[in-house]
Amino acid sequence: MHKLPFKSYFKEAVFAVEAVSQACQLVRRVRQDMTQAAFTKDDESPVTVADFAAQALIAKNLLEIFPHDFLVGEENALRLRKPECLAVSEKIAHYLSFFLPAPPAAAICDWIDHGNADPGRRFWTLDPIDGTKGFIRGDQYAVALALIEEGQVKVGVLGCPNLENACQIAFNGRGTIAVAVQGEGSWWSSLDSPENSWQRLKVSSHHTFAETKLLRSFETKHQDSSRMTQLMQTFGISQPPIFMDSLTKYLLLAAGGADLLFRFPTSGHPHEAIWDQAAGVIMIEEAGGKASDLLGKPLDFTSGRYLTKNFGVLLSNGRLHTSAVQGLHDLGACS
Ligand code: AMP
Ligand code: MG
Repeated sequence: MHKLPFKSYFKEAVFAVEAVSQACQLVRRVRQDMTQAAFTKDDESPVTVADFAAQALIAKNLLEIFPHDFLVGEENALRLRKPECLAVSEKIAHYLSFFLPAPPAAAICDWIDHGNADPGRRFWTLDPIDGTKGFIRGDQYAVALALIEEGQVKVGVLGCPNLENACQIAFNGRGTIAVAVQGEGSWWSSLDSPENSWQRLKVSSHHTFAETKLLRSFETKHQDSSRMTQLMQTFGISQPPIFMDSLTKYLLLAAGGADLLFRFPTSGHPHEAIWDQAAGVIMIEEAGGKASDLLGKPLDFTSGRYLTKNFGVLLSNGRLHTSAVQGLHDLGACS
């Protein structure tokens, strides 16, 4: 069993680490075999067999370990239940069969839809593959699972198959798994052998914009690139930004490999989804960093599936936070 260093939420942390590790093994296998084109969801983001299979696997594990817990996941099986998607269901069953006795298609859909609960007093939130576009491109992606109680993120786990030692980009490497428990720190281990050793994550100590490494989305559609360039100039951030997909950015910040991240709302994406934030936010906070919205307001996880009470997201190593909020305010960047 994992020698996780937690006094509280130990069982939850062990479950989440094991479930995310397994899901990472599964999605890596899909990625290795991937020749078939991804198909498109209603919002036109690509979704693959891997997204569905990872959500099914984690939901199935959750049902076994915490049968009364709710799950709020990104995916649902609505399309998958249609007869024309039988081939996709068969592929999902094939990948699940490396971890479970081969399941019937109906069971797979039911597991996926176990993740369609509404946020309540205590629930898990899951992004089975955050950064699907990065996954398809062969870049960064993350499996993200978090436990939220009374609007507080209590546990967060990130599986990042293409990040090694928590801070080095490495394709076909060992990958990194990281776990945080509120009040007990953020820790990482190799994704291949999480029982080996857990090491503490710690944010950087950079405190000037001259030494700041800014994280940015790889996808141009996910950001207003000209605004970001302008902000960098005004703040005096002269180091080249790190362009990266997914919550892997948050792990890199927690590990001290980067310092600052702005997420502005875009017209197609006015509010962040909780599964896109919760696990990464606790990772950064427990590593000594800070998370808020772009106005400096705490992120409010009590407003359902999306952070509708917040304006964007600001993440930092802590030391840069106040100046970043002040700078955004002075520039009128959030009005
Ligand atoms: P990133 O890898 O930082 O680009 O962020 C990936 C996340 O961005 C995905 O989980 C999507 O939910 C989210 N996303 C999708 N469309 C947009 C958009 N137009 N603007 C901002 N974020 C988006
Ligand atoms: Mg996502």
